[in-house]
Amino acid sequence: MRGGVLPLPDASRMSAGIFVLCLLILSACSLFGPEPVSDSFETMGTRATVTLAGKEADRLPAATAETQRLMRELDAELSVYRADSPVSRLNAVAGVRPLEVPEDTRRVLELSRVYGDLTSGAFDVTVGPVVDLWRPVKGQAPTLPQEDALKDALARVDYRQIQVTDTSAFLARAGMRVDFGGIGKGYAVDLAWRKCRDLGAGNFMVDLGGNIRISGRAKPDVAWSIAVRDPFDKSANLAKIEMPDEWAVATSGQYERFVEIDGRRYGHIVDPRTGYPASGLAGVTVFAPNATMADALSTGLFVLGLKRSIPILKKTGVEAVFIPDKQPAELWVTPGIQAKLTVLDGVKVQVLPGW
Ligand code: AMP
Ligand code: MG
Repeated sequence: MRGGVLPLPDASRMSAGIFVLCLLILSACSLFGPEPVSDSFETMGTRATVTLAGKEADRLPAATAETQRLMRELDAELSVYRADSPVSRLNAVAGVRPLEVPEDTRRVLELSRVYGDLTSGAFDVTVGPVVDLWRPVKGQAPTLPQEDALKDALARVDYRQIQVTDTSAFLARAGMRVDFGGIGKGYAVDLAWRKCRDLGAGNFMVDLGGNIRISGRAKPDVAWSIAVRDPFDKSANLAKIEMPDEWAVATSGQYERFVEIDGRRYGHIVDPRTGYPASGLAGVTVFAPNATMADALSTGLFVLGLKRSIPILKKTGVEAVFIPDKQPAELWVTPGIQAKLTVLDGVKVQVLPGW
């Protein structure tokens, strides 16, 4: 699974340490109600899972079917991997003319601007041309991009050149394009979350490739929790964190998608100021009131790094766990996270330096 968090409880995918811990938690709680039930499917290039508290198990088929339908529709609308999607067609007429686009496309463009502004451009939905220069090409030894190619791509990056009206959108600069890779899954999770609520579910979790939003409780006496994975050892977890009700979580990291050039790793999240992949952190996990915000901010804060993220965390009340890029993994957390966190196997935790 992509992303640095695992939904809990789900014993099947856990390391030995947390597996034991969960068994203990679950067996202690099985007195208080049936186990949560879940169903999964593939969409948006990853795996989606809908989990309902046991007492609402009868709603699982409808919640899963509706979530699947909704996510497939969104994928058809927002994917840049489909030449016929509205967003691909919008990219094709960048700098030429505005295009009528559906409501969700306009909405995600508007939200992308909000998070672009909030992160002073560290989250930039138009960074695709630069990200592509860092993608490994099949059958070729990876090399650093040429400086002129970087300069040319960077000149096409600026989310403020996106204009949105009541019915249409316009990418004002020729050659620019948008890519919802850093925000689209979170947006999809929020729509699915709302849909599950509308179907009458109150205690559930929606997970799309590590973008997770919860509602209510796993059991009457058990909150939903997630496990933060060890970026340096995919099979291990570092901590378990209880989710605030209705909140969402997302993780950004370089440890699963990167290219290695001359012994150095370059990841898939690019700093729009420099054109170079962001460095310094192994991962950032963001807890926010909704999944769109968690998704966009995890990408944005990963670029900003610890020090420049602090004012944004203070301003928004969003909580976060930073894992610096040095081994063994340790956790730097916002003060609000401390009360909700159970550390595993002696992992070192401290409040964000400079808070
Ligand atoms: P995430 O896994 O949510 O952090 O999203 C990573 C994806 O977002 C990348 O694969 C790119 O498609 C895209 N991306 C990379 N850098 C940025 C950035 N600075 N702002 C917005 N999106 C980005
Ligand atoms: Mg993201």
